[in-house]
Amino acid sequence: MRHKTEEIITPEIALSYRLSMMVTESFVCAEGYEYPVCPRCGITLEREYQAYCDRCGQALDWKKYGR
Ligand SMILES: [Zn+2]
Repeated sequence: MRHKTEEIITPEIALSYRLSMMVTESFVCAEGYEYPVCPRCGITLEREYQAYCDRCGQALDWKKYGR
């Protein structure tokens, strides 16, 4: 996935997106639904166990998420 941003993507940053980050936080909305939160950019993810964040492209690791 390509990102249009002004920041310079160094090889280290590019690599950090491909190395999965643990999803550990979730957000509970007023209706009681629980949404996982992207560990990189902090948005709520629409689907659990998606491989990448829709917004920032961070690879996600779900091992620590949920019960
Ligand atoms: Zn993200």
